[in-house]
Amino acid sequence: MKGMVSHAESVAGSVSNRRIIGKCNLCPKHKLPYILYSLNYAEPLCAECFEDYRGPQHEIQMLQNFAKIQVKQVKDDLDYIENSWRHIQEKLELRRNLNEKKAIQARQFFELTRKEMERIEREFWEKHNKEQEDEKEIVAKIVEQQKKLEEKH
Ligand SMILES: [Zn+2]
Repeated sequence: MKGMVSHAESVAGSVSNRRIIGKCNLCPKHKLPYILYSLNYAEPLCAECFEDYRGPQHEIQMLQNFAKIQVKQVKDDLDYIENSWRHIQEKLELRRNLNEKKAIQARQFFELTRKEMERIEREFWEKHNKEQEDEKEIVAKIVEQQKKLEEKH
């Protein structure tokens, strides 16, 4: 057993990355790889730890399964965050669209008001010009009639 540990250490120590991973996966007390996870103590266990902790109330999970659950939990959390973020983005998008709509409506209102003002002004001047034309016509007729009267006398 002792020889195995020293061999594992020498192999793990040969590559720095592997050493870090190796150390993380090795129980520091027994220098054995973690294989189980104790739900009672909330820590990983090697085979020797499992023997030490063995008891009827001890809730154990295969480390792989525990890791899978943890990964799923993290994924679920990420999904939740992503969904929340999407929800916020959608709300912002909705508000942006609403603001754009309001801006368009305001522009349309002012455009209509401007057009209405222009129409009223145009109609006023059209009416005014027509009245002036009518007036000119009436004056011209009066002048003509006066001339005819003068010619008769
Ligand atoms: Zn151990």
